[in-house]
Amino acid sequence: MKKTFTYLRPLTPVEACRFKEKYDKKAKFWAGGTDLLIQWRSEKIKLDYCVDLSFISDLEYIKKDLDLICIGSSTKVNALENSSKLDDSLSIIREAAGELGPPGLRTTATIGGNLCNAAPSADLATPLIVLGAQAKFLSSTEERWVNMDEFFLNVNQTALKENELLTEIKIPIPRDTTATSFLKIGRNVVDIAIVNMSMKAAMDEAGILSDVKIAFGAVAPTPIRIKSAEKLLLGADIFKIKDTLIDEVGNKVAKEVKPITDVRSSAEYRREVSRVLAVRAVKNILGDLKKRRKV
Ligand SMILES: Cc1cc2nc3c(=O)[nH]c(=O)nc-3n(C[C@H](O)[C@H](O)[C@H](O)COP(=O)(O)OP(=O)(O)OC[C@H]3O[C@@H](n4cnc5c(N)ncnc54)[C@H](O)[C@@H]3O)c2cc1C
Repeated sequence: MKKTFTYLRPLTPVEACRFKEKYDKKAKFWAGGTDLLIQWRSEKIKLDYCVDLSFISDLEYIKKDLDLICIGSSTKVNALENSSKLDDSLSIIREAAGELGPPGLRTTATIGGNLCNAAPSADLATPLIVLGAQAKFLSSTEERWVNMDEFFLNVNQTALKENELLTEIKIPIPRDTTATSFLKIGRNVVDIAIVNMSMKAAMDEAGILSDVKIAFGAVAPTPIRIKSAEKLLLGADIFKIKDTLIDEVGNKVAKEVKPITDVRSSAEYRREVSRVLAVRAVKNILGDLKKRRKV
């Protein structure tokens, strides 16, 4: 017979943190519950106190604040998928959201839950990493900001302390000379990724790549940046990049990823898919940037 848990319903973020401080490891935040419910039912986690975040109204929003987009942690995945505020180079967030599980799930699952569950395959992780997003952590007494680069520590482990709540993700709006690409390979359209990845590149007025970020998911214990592949492209002229350089980027990625074999895929397949996706993303981005130079 499965144990029951005590249900707690805070109405503010600070009240939620106080519950967590009071019950510590015995309590878990519950956002959409799509990961948590499965983990509790399969007894992967213990849950004595469930701190339901869904009645805290000020954690659910997507808003523009000068040159930033701010997203509340309880924002549903389908709200991201359909948000007109996430356009142009931010559209990789919409694309990743639109490929996260089946449509019904996306009406319940939240961005905060996707990040805090810290699955290596979390679809919203790599877009936010390449976009240079930051996450706001709140406790009952203070708040701090953490770069998405430093958010994931291990499988199912984040930089959040036990008493902290993720409340907001802020994303700098890229300049209009930035292009992005999100790509995902799964066994079918509703499954979690075998490999997912995001790339962002910006060019200066002369068409020289001035900012390149490449991140991969499901190929290591956490989503990872492949900085050595980024360096190959930095400073390159978008009109002079040869296929040999693009292949080099793919090979570098294949060398750097550290995939495992599991029920979804062999490590070898993940490595090869990573190479192919890197090449595809670079070509997508160069095509996009070249069109803009012609305008
Ligand atoms: C059928 C199915 C298909 C799926 N497909 C995909 C897929 O394609 N891609 C993908 O990435 N995921 C997929 N998932 C996983 C899951 O749906 C997502 O990770 C989802 O976004 C989790 O959000 P949630 O709100 O349900 O999180 P919850 O289950 O509520 O929480 C997940 C974890 O995060 C913690 N948490 C939640 N919010 C906060 C917060 N604000 N601060 C601190 N901690 C917090 C919880 O305590 C818990 O440990 C799938 C799941 C199912 C069941």
